Amino acid sequence: MTMAKDTTVREPAAPAGDSRERPATAVDIEDVAVRFRSRKRDVTALTDVSLTVGTGEFVAIVGPSGCGKSTLLKLVAGLLRPSAGDVRLHGERVDGPRHDIGYAFQRAALLEWRSARRNILLQAEIRRMPAAVARRRADELIAMTGLEGFEDAYPHELSGGMQQRVALCRALLHRPPVLLMDEPFGALDALTREQLNMELNRIWRETGTTVLLVTHSISEACYLADRVVVMSPRPGTITEIVGIGLPAERDYTETMGRPEFREATSHIRGLLGAASAED
Ligand code: ADP
Ligand code: MG
Repeated sequence: MTMAKDTTVREPAAPAGDSRERPATAVDIEDVAVRFRSRKRDVTALTDVSLTVGTGEFVAIVGPSGCGKSTLLKLVAGLLRPSAGDVRLHGERVDGPRHDIGYAFQRAALLEWRSARRNILLQAEIRRMPAAVARRRADELIAMTGLEGFEDAYPHELSGGMQQRVALCRALLHRPPVLLMDEPFGALDALTREQLNMELNRIWRETGTTVLLVTHSISEACYLADRVVVMSPRPGTITEIVGIGLPAERDYTETMGRPEFREATSHIRGLLGAASAED
């Protein structure tokens, strides 16, 4: 298990007033298999998957389409039960939907009739957070993601990148110790994606959140993660876990030129095979 390597002072990931230390292991996936059965066919989506993610660690997951990446995130979120094996979050078995996670998807999925701020605050309404606490946290996140001045804009008035920032703020509003991201930047243009990658790196460092990110982009995975999980085609299993070995604080251009980065990306490209890897 590799832990985040930096020594940056982090904002506590636990909600205010929660002074308990979090266990060193955030996510523990043990010998998991997932089979989907229907009258027409049985699909084994995952088999023999074991993965331990340290608290505060950033783990990226890459693999061909249909290899079970989204299925893996759903297991951690408690939206799906494994057919075999165990999933634990902070030492507790996941046996139903979890409230201590944040989830961000490829589609920002914002409500068109709500302003950016009110979309972010939706999380507070669902979780019945005290209004003043939620507003303060929303303001912090709006500043952190550079959305100031756009709080009152409606989704159709926002660019794709801004919509994803709103979705990220919404996912982080309740200070989830674990953030799950499923191809969150897949629909964005390359420049916006780069910019959001840099912002995500900073937000991760500032919040101390444990992140599991599914992505199709090998360079995005290597730029952001402490470790990259490479998965095989269906039935999905872990081919290799590649440690990136870069400092937590990463300048984009400088990182792209580092030998550790180049070695990791070309190694992963080799593991996936040219045909299955888009970048
Ligand atoms: P990925 O995110 O890596 O593209 P998924 O985790 O979405 O892959 O899916 C893995 C496999 O499981 C695919 O073959 C998919 O068709 C199948 N699958 C996913 N969810 C279901 C479901 N609810 N019912 C039946 N099959 C499913
Ligand atoms: Mg998917």
